[in-house]
Amino acid sequence: MQKIAVLGAGISGLATAYYLKKSFPSSEIKIFESEKSAGGKISTRTEKEFLFEQGPRGVRPSGKGRHFLQFVREIGLWEKLVPSNKEAKIRYLFLDGKLEKLPTNPLEAITSKTTDGAIGAVLKDLKTPQKDNENESIREFIERRFGQKIADNLIDPVISGIYAGDISKLSASETIFFLTEPERDFGGVIKGLIKASKSKPDIEESFGEIEKSALVTFKGGMQTLVSKLVEILGENLSLGTKICSLKKNENKIEVTYGSEIFVADFVVSTIPAFVLNEILDGFDTKLNSLLEKIVYAPITVSSLGFEKNVNSLTGFGYLVPHKENQAILGGLWNDQIFDGISPKNKSSFTVMLGGACSENFDSISESEFTETALEATQKHLGFSEKPSVKFSKVWSKGIPQYNVGHKKIVEEIQTVLKDENLVISGNFIGGVSVIDCIKNAKLLAEKYKI
Ligand SMILES: Cc1cc2nc3c(=O)[nH]c(=O)nc-3n(C[C@H](O)[C@H](O)[C@H](O)COP(=O)(O)OP(=O)(O)OC[C@H]3O[C@@H](n4cnc5c(N)ncnc54)[C@H](O)[C@@H]3O)c2cc1C
Repeated sequence: MQKIAVLGAGISGLATAYYLKKSFPSSEIKIFESEKSAGGKISTRTEKEFLFEQGPRGVRPSGKGRHFLQFVREIGLWEKLVPSNKEAKIRYLFLDGKLEKLPTNPLEAITSKTTDGAIGAVLKDLKTPQKDNENESIREFIERRFGQKIADNLIDPVISGIYAGDISKLSASETIFFLTEPERDFGGVIKGLIKASKSKPDIEESFGEIEKSALVTFKGGMQTLVSKLVEILGENLSLGTKICSLKKNENKIEVTYGSEIFVADFVVSTIPAFVLNEILDGFDTKLNSLLEKIVYAPITVSSLGFEKNVNSLTGFGYLVPHKENQAILGGLWNDQIFDGISPKNKSSFTVMLGGACSENFDSISESEFTETALEATQKHLGFSEKPSVKFSKVWSKGIPQYNVGHKKIVEEIQTVLKDENLVISGNFIGGVSVIDCIKNAKLLAEKYKI
């Protein structure tokens, strides 16, 4: 492979280029990014000393998070890692019109409204016979094994917080596989979880205390990760370069931007499915019909900064089940999650709105989202102070949805591309989290290493 093109400089594209550079040191690798800056959904904005994340705010370091920690150490960012505060383990749910603390120990679990019905749900799982869950939605799977209350009160808001998704459409086996696999392999979720807790992690090397924190970010926020990769990949990166066509030409691929063409021996696309669908030229048209089936949920991230502490509660923030009919999906209390995110004794909130179940998302303006986020935060937390900083970031196609049937679409994409020198990657294949994007980039480079 003499000339390699990587499309997109989000975390998938940057990490892919990083690992490809290691596997193919003598190849010419070019990363094409349409925007003037790299990072894609990673977008940190600082206003009046407040640091706001408009995309991912951190990474869970435990479990498969070791892939992330390993990467961070390898690229020389270990010293910049910031673990979340102890308070970040405290979380709330908005239930029956008010904020209810999720239990942090078994005693709290007995009295908490959030775990109402949990004992019945456990018994239901222990009694429910095993069934093939491969094609079930999250709602079907959870209701069958744990009942509707758990689906509505707990799973629905948690899934909103990760996928901004609709649990009636998302595939259980593609998203909550840590629950479906125990049923598949051991006949029940609880039974399986107990057995699986003894299994070995992917990476055996331990990274110490930091793995115990709920979340990690970097000094300067998630943008620090992007800046480091941009520094490492500087000469390979071409910003403000929108790819407008990807044309198959015998055993090469012509990558066109503006009036120029980069003739590549190998192309890795990490751009969104709907963009790739528009630029393919000369490939099997089945690929287009498969890419068209990948849908994205819209999400708006509103940022609010206050000159004093207006929040009387302690914790990470809260999630809102859809059944509560509120205007927001949840709120995060940034100043309590990580130190150094906002000045001392000032409150910083991130509010998520929209999601796969939202109606009229495209007709709502950025400022309307901001006002809705502010009103909801004031109402839920019971204060009336005005923010000194407020703005929103609208991602109209924010997060790919791993809906029922997604696995089959991805398998068919891979079959169509079997003999092509085009590889499709990015967050609509192999997981949406930053960890997944990095892990998949590493696996991809290893797979093609000769
Ligand atoms: C609001 C929000 C919050 C999130 N929170 C978390 C979190 O806390 N933790 C976590 O792990 N994950 C989180 N995620 C998920 C995670 O951030 C994303 O899945 C991940 O960053 C996606 O990276 P990517 O590189 O695959 O795609 P993207 O970041 O979308 O990158 C694709 C890149 O391709 C570029 N591009 C598009 N078209 C072209 C073209 N024609 N030519 C050249 N370039 C092009 C784009 O400009 C972009 O830079 C969140 C996502 C969102 C939206």
